[in-house]
Amino acid sequence: MTSLDNIRFVLVGTTHPGNIGAAARAMKTMGLKNLHLVSPKIYPSAEATARASGADDILHQATVHDSLQSALADCHYAFGLSARLRHLPVPVINPREAVEQLEKFDDDTQIAIVFGREHSGLSNEELDCCQFLVNIPANPDYSSLNLAAAVQVVAYELRMSFKPEIDFGRIGEQREAITAEDLSHLYDHFERSLTTIGFLDPDNPRYLMRRIRRLFNRADLDRNEVQIMHGILRAAETKARNNNE
Ligand code: SAH
Repeated sequence: MTSLDNIRFVLVGTTHPGNIGAAARAMKTMGLKNLHLVSPKIYPSAEATARASGADDILHQATVHDSLQSALADCHYAFGLSARLRHLPVPVINPREAVEQLEKFDDDTQIAIVFGREHSGLSNEELDCCQFLVNIPANPDYSSLNLAAAVQVVAYELRMSFKPEIDFGRIGEQREAITAEDLSHLYDHFERSLTTIGFLDPDNPRYLMRRIRRLFNRADLDRNEVQIMHGILRAAETKARNNNE
């Protein structure tokens, strides 16, 4: 399988520089960096840099071409993105299928993903330069995504194909697993404290402890949460004892 570094995004004839910036941002968030521009209408542009918002390194590295042929010259395969399903003798695939296709290629295969103009998309001649035609399945009555949104969808699919792991360091603490013994201590504690506070009648326990076990088996507790439960039970016991004195 080829790597993300061998994949270039080619924007053809982009009219709005803001879309170029937003596309650069979409790419960078997914770890893609090779941006190629074919005859952009206005570029470089302060608006592109503003919309890139931190992805301006992608913009600065972008290569500008005067033809699609030049942008594709050293690529082995090109995937053309089209909002309209044309009657072309090329099979149309969705982005996920396109990424599956990439998985069949060698490590050093160079790939281009080609996006069209905001108003008119890619011409038939430009689509003829592509071996694969890709359509993002959308609302049939309103199927044209904003250019940068289309870039984001494809970039996301590419990222997902590398089976990224969620970085728990960035979204919160690591959950520490507990053992059967930890749970059994917790249940013993429950039984003691529920008796102390008068909620569990040892002479008529019914199914209470069993239900509590089922509840916590479903809850997938971590060590921190088990400690919180012990803390709550201790506080309840203390309160009950003080009341009885
Ligand atoms: N009116 C144009 C749409 C242009 S949108 C047309 O009919 O072709 C700008 C670019 O975003 C398109 O050229 C295409 O590359 C991409 N795009 C937008 N929506 C898409 C979709 N549903 N599927 C595939 N590509 C799409």
